[in-house]
Amino acid sequence: MPDSEHCMKCGAKLMQDDKAIYRKMVLRTADSFLCIDCLAEYFGVSRAAIEEKIRYFRESGNCALFR
Ligand SMILES: [Zn+2]
Repeated sequence: MPDSEHCMKCGAKLMQDDKAIYRKMVLRTADSFLCIDCLAEYFGVSRAAIEEKIRYFRESGNCALFR
């Protein structure tokens, strides 16, 4: 059974935002996730770039994944 509370790679405890950005950038219907650090590595970008996207989606206010 997938563990939706922890990063599937490093086992870090996941925040709501970690899951939301994973769904947004990787797979909308995901039920297992990567933390922000592992997601950044997966895309070959910096952690700050991922955090920037989270901020953008939240501030745009029209994505149901970010509340
Ligand atoms: Zn991780």
